[in-house]
Amino acid sequence: MKKTIISSFISITCAVLLFGADASSAIRVMLLDGQQARSHPWEPTSPFLIKILEETGLFEVDEVTSPAMGEDFSDFKPDFSQYQVIVMNYDTDDDQWPEELKTAFEQYVSNGGGLVVFHGADNSFPGWEAYNLMIGVGGWRNRDENAGPYWYYKDGELIADTSSGRAGSHGARLPFQIVNRVTDHPITKGLPEAWMHAADELYATLRGPGKNMTILSTAYSDPDNRGTDRDEPILMVLSYGKGRIFHTVLGHDIPAMSCIGFITTFQRGTEWAATGEVTQEVPADFPTADTVSIRDE
Ligand code: ZN
Repeated sequence: MKKTIISSFISITCAVLLFGADASSAIRVMLLDGQQARSHPWEPTSPFLIKILEETGLFEVDEVTSPAMGEDFSDFKPDFSQYQVIVMNYDTDDDQWPEELKTAFEQYVSNGGGLVVFHGADNSFPGWEAYNLMIGVGGWRNRDENAGPYWYYKDGELIADTSSGRAGSHGARLPFQIVNRVTDHPITKGLPEAWMHAADELYATLRGPGKNMTILSTAYSDPDNRGTDRDEPILMVLSYGKGRIFHTVLGHDIPAMSCIGFITTFQRGTEWAATGEVTQEVPADFPTADTVSIRDE
């Protein structure tokens, strides 16, 4: 018996050492940035995203920075196939990427690559059909009814609203409560059903094709803060071909991203997009239904 215990201990120790030493066991992440033309500069947010992914011990992140707006893309040919998931910290116009790059990106996702759409990345590329199928819903950059319906919940029912109008709005940055509508998905399993998010933009009036999309979480958009009186999509999962996509509208800036709820769902969503599973525990300091929880460092 004693011998069994000792050999088990040695095996576990070896496994831990091997895991730690073996870089190939880490999930390879490409964090793609380089163009955030408007209110979403990537320079401060990318290091934060890298930090919260790598601190899990699950991910090895390469930051890939594209040419800036208007610069020459002819030498920019990232090898997407080397990665299990691409995180888009990227907010730009339709005309920035050459067709060849768009095609390589589409093939990567449709062949089973993972994708994480982070906040302003759903403002990007309003006219790129495949990208809009990947994100499901988006806003701004002149999106309107041609982009697809508005998607939201009203009185507990999912609505695809084809009325005309512009896409993308938010009120002042205030804390708001998020409700998980799907509680048995790997990303949301074990989280409180309702949790308070730190002060952030509550995206509303997003519209898009919404195909192969499951809205995991919503938040009530309060008319008192220029809201819609609807429950707006906050966390979504989608598929595009064989690829898995996690879309979070959260995280306008570092104070919003310092929410333990943002950090946890981003870490879990990235693992799920890469592997289809989530192995991470829910932290003890996850926000509750009425209390914000912020990382203070
Ligand atoms: Zn924003």
